[in-house]
Amino acid sequence: MTFAVDNSYARDLPGFYVEWQAARAPAPRLLRLNRGLAFQLGLDPDGLERDGALVFSGGRLPEGAMPIAQAYAGHQFGGFSPQLGDGRALLLGEVTDRAGRRHDIQLKGSGRTPFSRGGDGKAALGPVLREYLIGEAMHGLGIPTTRALAAVTTGETILRQEGELPGAILTRVAASHIRVGTFQFFAARGDDAKVRQLADYAIARHYPETAAADQPYLAFYEAVAEAQAALIARWMLVGFIHGVMNTDNMAISGETIDYGPCAFMEAYDPATVFSSIDHQGRYAYGNQPLILEWNLARLAETLLPLFDADPDRAVAKASEVLDTVGARYRGHWLAGMREKLGLWHDHGDDLALAGDLLTLMAAQGADWTLTFRRLATDADAARALFRDPSAFDAWLPRWQARRAPDAAMRMAAANPACIARNHKVEEALAAAYRGDLAPFDRLIEVLADPFTERPEFEAYTLPAPASFGRYRTFC
Ligand code: AMP
Ligand code: MG
Ligand code: MG
Repeated sequence: MTFAVDNSYARDLPGFYVEWQAARAPAPRLLRLNRGLAFQLGLDPDGLERDGALVFSGGRLPEGAMPIAQAYAGHQFGGFSPQLGDGRALLLGEVTDRAGRRHDIQLKGSGRTPFSRGGDGKAALGPVLREYLIGEAMHGLGIPTTRALAAVTTGETILRQEGELPGAILTRVAASHIRVGTFQFFAARGDDAKVRQLADYAIARHYPETAAADQPYLAFYEAVAEAQAALIARWMLVGFIHGVMNTDNMAISGETIDYGPCAFMEAYDPATVFSSIDHQGRYAYGNQPLILEWNLARLAETLLPLFDADPDRAVAKASEVLDTVGARYRGHWLAGMREKLGLWHDHGDDLALAGDLLTLMAAQGADWTLTFRRLATDADAARALFRDPSAFDAWLPRWQARRAPDAAMRMAAANPACIARNHKVEEALAAAYRGDLAPFDRLIEVLADPFTERPEFEAYTLPAPASFGRYRTFC
């Protein structure tokens, strides 16, 4: 049982990749298939459930597949690497879903490629299931994201800091894997023709409406800036910390991509960092909107020759768009915050009202998710989240005077009850390493419908117990 794929990237963009093959997995086993996503992609869930292990481990190719490792570069923690590329991933091809949208089907963890540098090209079970979980969490929250179609174990043991771990492969579905870093790869080599070719491809695939603009490449850049500003605002509103906002992890499509050391914040603190390698806090929660602009500036640099033949005019045009990014981000954020607080009519004081709540939350260590959720339904329960509730008591009447009469119901639709709580994620991964996928399955079920509160899932609404300690993530 397999399925058919197209290869528009390989066909249209020769020179942008290396044709390659997956390493042989000694004993592939299908761990989980995302049946809902398989269905949406027009695939046969039952058939894939039966014998998808071979396809999702790279042992049998989908019809028409031409596996490739894509070339890209990227700024990692601010420093430029002219060559990164798919060091442990292969693009099998593309499928068109039931709604007519094209998606990449990529294997991640399928072995070394010419871009592997020192890496082994493999992925361990924990990180594969982690990416699966967080992607589904984001999807459940309505945030644009890549998603897992399947997770397989390879039957191999791989070596990581923690010791020997079971090898695994994630099948990742993405609107595309074109990154800011893909543009950087060719721009850094001074290959303007390839930058143009890539922009034309990205326009046709993701932003076809910009092709008809007076200045299509500038309109394309503006569309990417808008999509990214909207995306980062969504992250901020749910307390999501990506952890590695390198330019190679920033998708042109506007989807969240590459779930490594990411995690959801619990107690609100803008300085929150979970990633063990982010020593300077470059990708701290509160820095994400600044990094958004920084990354978009890097994208603009690659597109300058397309904006205008005159370098000064090209920079002026890029700046004109770049200068709007902060306002775009703040607009999306404030609109989202109004929904979270149940304020249906714009009011000049909304920003101050929200800002004052956030200041209180930060000072008192209030849980980001629970504060908003409880505010909707039970102000006393929200009050209990503040160490010293007196400041909250002073803020509450200001909000009560402003909120819409039907705020409670609509706020419940804007504020999730359940996020992927760090201790629940870790519990699911630890159990999976012991061969027990029940906690993983249950968490997937919770995250599929995060806005509905169900008594049997109450444990999933609560922050980690103090005994969980400070959370650190690895990638
Ligand atoms: P990331 O930090 O996951 O965005 O990855 C950055 C770069 O490292 C990309 O080029 C990856 O393909 C590469 N990479 C990450 N892990 C491995 C690995 N285990 N083997 C080979 N390359 C890897
Ligand atoms: Mg990456
Ligand atoms: Mg990664």
